[in-house]
Amino acid sequence: MAKQIQIIQGDITKQHVDAIVNAANSALSGGGGVDGAIHRAAGPELLKASRKLGPCSAGEARITEGYRLPANYVIHAVGPVWRGGEQGEDALLASCYRASLSFANDYDIQSIAFPAISTGAYGYPLNKATQIAIQTVKEWLETNDLPHVVHFVCFDNKTYRAYQRELEK
Ligand code: ADP
Repeated sequence: MAKQIQIIQGDITKQHVDAIVNAANSALSGGGGVDGAIHRAAGPELLKASRKLGPCSAGEARITEGYRLPANYVIHAVGPVWRGGEQGEDALLASCYRASLSFANDYDIQSIAFPAISTGAYGYPLNKATQIAIQTVKEWLETNDLPHVVHFVCFDNKTYRAYQRELEK
């Protein structure tokens, strides 16, 4: 099966993929934005499970079941808070994408959906984050068997357009 990247505008909690990625905080204790939406949709079991796996540093990720979500798994990735760009933010952002993808082999994750990690409350400049997300995923797909399909799920139109522009480059 050809490996592919798809840009989708919508709600990540509705994605029928093997795993969705959450833009989590280090305590893995739920929060606002996409994190809140995922916990609401998955139900309280998700919080119970994720809390036990924290703390999780920026650049790292943990995995739980998906509970009431259509996805089998939630991968809780902690992106960096944007502090001006001189604090290793780019490397940490790339690292949390790779850490998420690296569960694919052990958990037989063929399809995975990512939100635009760090671009909301964590303040990462959208175009820079988009470039890192797409570049890191492309490199991963070139050198690894799984996953086969990666969805970038963009909640708003501005994010959707940024991803489309970057993928067309
Ligand atoms: P962070 O703290 O990592 O910046 P946020 O949740 O604040 O995370 O924002 C990350 C991105 O997730 C933003 O583009 C935001 O619009 C988007 N987002 C919020 N809710 C959802 C959702 N239900 N599905 C997909 N993306 C979402």
